Amino acid sequence: MQSDVTKKRLEIVLAILFTIASIFILVDLVMQTGQKALAYSEVREAIRSSQVEVMTVGPTLLNGSLKDGSRFKTQRISEDAELIPMLEKYGVSYSGPSEWRSVFYGGAAPAIALLGLLYFFYQRSQSPLRNFGKRGKTLLVAESPSTGFAHVAGCDEAKSELTEIVDFLTAPEKFHEMGASMPRGVLLSGPPGTGKTLLARALAAESGVPFFSLSGSDFVEMYVGVGAARVRGLFEQARKQAPCIVFIDEIDALGKTRDQNSSNSDEREQTLNQLLVELDGFEQDSRVVLIGATNRPEVIDPALLRPGRFDRQVVVDAPDRVGRLAILEVHGRGKKIGPNTSLKKLAGSTAGMSGADLANILNEAALLAARGGASCIEQEHLHEAVEKVLAGPVRSNRLLDLNLKTRIAYHETGHALIAYHSPTADPVHKISIVPRGKAALGYTMQIPLSDSYLMTETELRDRIRVLLGGRAAEALIFNEVSTGAENDLERCTLLARRMVGHFGMGARTGLLHAGADLRGCSPEFAAKMDEQVQEMLEDIFKEAQAILAENRGQLEAVSQRLLKREVLEAEEFESFL
Ligand code: ADP
Ligand code: MG
Ligand code: ZN
Repeated sequence: MQSDVTKKRLEIVLAILFTIASIFILVDLVMQTGQKALAYSEVREAIRSSQVEVMTVGPTLLNGSLKDGSRFKTQRISEDAELIPMLEKYGVSYSGPSEWRSVFYGGAAPAIALLGLLYFFYQRSQSPLRNFGKRGKTLLVAESPSTGFAHVAGCDEAKSELTEIVDFLTAPEKFHEMGASMPRGVLLSGPPGTGKTLLARALAAESGVPFFSLSGSDFVEMYVGVGAARVRGLFEQARKQAPCIVFIDEIDALGKTRDQNSSNSDEREQTLNQLLVELDGFEQDSRVVLIGATNRPEVIDPALLRPGRFDRQVVVDAPDRVGRLAILEVHGRGKKIGPNTSLKKLAGSTAGMSGADLANILNEAALLAARGGASCIEQEHLHEAVEKVLAGPVRSNRLLDLNLKTRIAYHETGHALIAYHSPTADPVHKISIVPRGKAALGYTMQIPLSDSYLMTETELRDRIRVLLGGRAAEALIFNEVSTGAENDLERCTLLARRMVGHFGMGARTGLLHAGADLRGCSPEFAAKMDEQVQEMLEDIFKEAQAILAENRGQLEAVSQRLLKREVLEAEEFESFL
């Protein structure tokens, strides 16, 4: 604390000095602009013709004023022994520069200004969290969230795991008597938007203890050692305020597997090591619980997952039908939902969507209803909102020429027809060539009938075939392909790679699992995998082409209709088939 006060004082003194120096330099600059720069010879001439009134003789600089009141300056020539005698002779009053002035401008002022600037940049280089890595600072403020478990719907397993932690935090005696030790870390993992952050905050609200919330990226710094210092500072502070909860969101940013050779892996390794040290150092009764959240559990360093560290892993998955309905109900509270509007139906037709998507849909629907002047949210608002959330807002200002539109119509119909003719593919819900969102010029919306927990090889191949249907249609009709299939290709390549490298479905590659990132295998095997993936995609592409060639009449009819109408709903689409 003492050092803090001295530092504060030093800072103030520095600031004052800096200001004074700046003012003097500025004043000097202004004064100098009023001085005419003369040549040395001109000054001598002026002395000789008795125009000079006073003069300051510095070692390198001569300043003075003329009898007419104007001021001048000039650079002095070193070998001018006659100068002083000459001044004497013509009666100019002269003096040397004041000592403080030469010291000040010669060294002190620039030095102070430079120091000030350096300090300024040093301060700026520190993030807002700059102090939490330092001893004794308390800039990291504990929050106290107010939304409890009642606001989290669906993820019941996660909630019950966390309820146990609430008990630990609120009534530890019960557990101590039993000899049970406090869990130290809980890792919440699951896709984005499934409520991990929400759960952590709810946990804090339920247990009523201080909540420190940080993101993994807060620790990742350019300078080696800063992240580690922050981790140390964080836990120092947390221990002081125990019982409390420390939440590190996106913890994968610092808990990444260490063997990846990225540029700042040194820094990250130190940070991670410090985190491990802190976790190991938790005393039995310190009552600090670390909650981590990640979308990418596969890249978390295994060292973090050992007993005594993140000893509980809670998977927060995309909600099932029941969960979706519960989430919709939570977010429907306080919204005017029409008597004929069925959230249940919506829950049924939104398989695979996250809690964030659902919250978003309800909000969009409310906005649409309000904008349309409706008295409550109707089913149609929900429909429109789903589309908006899935595909982005309509871009009506984008005028497409007929050729392009025709190509898009055939491409989308290609997807839809393949979906129709693939036994296990999700049914087509809508086909549209109205541009939406950032990328999609057109889209085919399929809605799964049920949540899929497990997929068979047939289902996966069907899915790939649907993705390739757009390009197959373009190739068949136009004899030329376009860039429109990039996203499709990206998605089906990823699927095929996983089939080969993760699910053991490659005929020639066998059962080997290539590691979560598909890199846990030899280069030779990786090359073989690439070949297998390519072969698989070619095969399936041929199937898609065959289906479309066989049903060319349907392809033409649906595409032409789509071109005219721009949007085809499921019933209309099927009426052609
Ligand atoms: P994550 O951290 O998993 O990416 P968030 O917790 O940030 O997801 O969720 C984003 C938003 O989505 C939340 O603020 C909430 O409105 C909504 N949400 C997500 N999951 C749920 C859920 N299970 N129950 C209620 N709302 C949810
Ligand atoms: Mg989050
Ligand atoms: Zn496509």
